[in-house]
Amino acid sequence: MEIRLLSEDLRNKISAGEVVERPASVVKELMENSLDAESTEISIVVNGGGHNLIQVTDNGLGIEPDYLPAAFQRYSTSKISRLDDLISIQTLGFRGEALASIASVSEVSVLSSTAGGEGGELHIKQGDISQVKPAPALTGTQVTVKNLFYNTPARKKFLKSPRIEFRKIVEVVRRYALAYPEVSLKLISDNREIFNLHPESLQERIAAVMDPGYQDQLLPVNFSKGEYSITGFAGNLNLLRNRPGEQYIFLNRRYIQNRLLNSGVYQAYRSIIKRGEYPYFVLNLVVPGSQVDVNVHPFKTEVRFKDEWRIFHVLKSSLEEALSSILDTIPDLEKPAFGVPFNFENRGNSFVRDWNQLDENQAKISFESQNKSEDRSKDLTRAKSYVSDLAARRSSLDSGLSGDNIWQVHTKYIVSQIDSGLVIIDQHVAHERVLFEEALGALDSKPLQAQTLLFPEVMEFAADTFSVLLDVLPDLEKIGFRMREFGKNTVMVEAIPAEMGWGNEKQIIREILDNYLEHRSQYTSGQEAVAASFACKAAVKAGDVLTKQEMQALVNRLFGTKHPYYCPHGRPIIVQLSIEELDRRFERI
Ligand code: ADP
Ligand code: MG
Repeated sequence: MEIRLLSEDLRNKISAGEVVERPASVVKELMENSLDAESTEISIVVNGGGHNLIQVTDNGLGIEPDYLPAAFQRYSTSKISRLDDLISIQTLGFRGEALASIASVSEVSVLSSTAGGEGGELHIKQGDISQVKPAPALTGTQVTVKNLFYNTPARKKFLKSPRIEFRKIVEVVRRYALAYPEVSLKLISDNREIFNLHPESLQERIAAVMDPGYQDQLLPVNFSKGEYSITGFAGNLNLLRNRPGEQYIFLNRRYIQNRLLNSGVYQAYRSIIKRGEYPYFVLNLVVPGSQVDVNVHPFKTEVRFKDEWRIFHVLKSSLEEALSSILDTIPDLEKPAFGVPFNFENRGNSFVRDWNQLDENQAKISFESQNKSEDRSKDLTRAKSYVSDLAARRSSLDSGLSGDNIWQVHTKYIVSQIDSGLVIIDQHVAHERVLFEEALGALDSKPLQAQTLLFPEVMEFAADTFSVLLDVLPDLEKIGFRMREFGKNTVMVEAIPAEMGWGNEKQIIREILDNYLEHRSQYTSGQEAVAASFACKAAVKAGDVLTKQEMQALVNRLFGTKHPYYCPHGRPIIVQLSIEELDRRFERI
């Protein structure tokens, strides 16, 4: 068997597959070149989903005629020259292979000139490079790509319909539009203008490339820690979708895909959205170049961080901060743009669910809106001001509960008088919320207090459960459990979290493990699953008698949590009944 070196043409075609997967990848590479050339205006014309024509014109730095042929040579680039440059890459491109790859699977023309320089043009057809010819000086560059994949029928066969390719192109352009709101961008497809964007703020750009309705549904993100900074916007609950696709993370202005970072964001949203719901976000991460490696894959959307977990935590904190204002950000009720009628039955929908969590008004809103639509807008205005008052009331609630006006009813609910009426709190979910946040904090950095058992307990497990226990043991220890291996599949429990009742610790430990095993997949991380299982099982239950002091302490701690109104599963914790509502019901007003 003879082993041969492949011809250059064949080599190019093989590696072209890595960079040029489909028309949208050509658009991406050409846009990246235009942006690297510091263009402030870029225009993209495509026909037939990019199958027939892709043309990108910019007003950037341009290429001198003498260098035009070099631009099409593989591994020729003006962007890096030394190994050191590769370690801290400032440009979108650096591999010097895009133009070469594109030219090996299509017909390419390029026209370019630098500011004040001569214009030149070059054509590549069937792999043959023409001479550079003089051309009008554009001050910028125009690259035209025709007949994509004419010589790679296998790839052509795998291309989707022009419509699908067109959508992929729109998505690529949208990404860069979001990363560079100060750049004018035009996208024309089959003579239709898809985008015509002028320099604007990121918020305006989001409205322009997503939907004008997005603009009012955004929470600003602005955070920095050490060398990292994160800015951008996170969508409120009106922008939740049931499938992913509208999550944008830019690292030093490069669109990247990274599951861990996404999950950092999802975790911040976790207590207010359901599993299977995806929030909208556009986040710009600025990280020192030395902390990342973008040279992982030819597409350059995959990156490696030196300290991925650190970025994860910074990202999560930035979102938590932004989302803390979510109580003030009211879903826009007048405009049920997302097609949901105000219907109590409609519990599955997050939009309505958000309201279900609120208060007494909600029942009224849903009821009246079904019957008397003319009254609806009045109610909505009322509901809106109610919600915006919520955050303010929180402090009055906080101080208004004293031992004198707090009662337990049916060993299940805590009822108390407050200035504006009365509140009813579900004791189990309230405690669960408190423990969940405390446990998460413990896993993060602040271990919870443990109480040593007077009589250590020996517990034996089935072999598989025992191995799970060993997996989660470090987490359980941070929460306050202390266990020692004590023979086969057996542990000695020496301490339990101070919060937990004495006497039933064995049962609770078993329940935590069962809960963890059953629900692990619903959580973004194992730690969160441990925290949630602990919170659920260690919390007081319906039926537990609470003293006034215990109730008071619980309520105080509840209001110290980030989300006193929702339990980790999205159920309401507090129901409020205003004095007006009571007066109305008794027909006093
Ligand atoms: P890379 O972007 O990785 O350097 P490319 O093959 O995409 O590799 O481009 C090769 C070179 O051609 C670039 O380094 C740059 O010097 C030049 N070039 C390509 N497109 C443009 C453009 N639109 N404006 C100015 N220079 C360009
Ligand atoms: Mg490039």
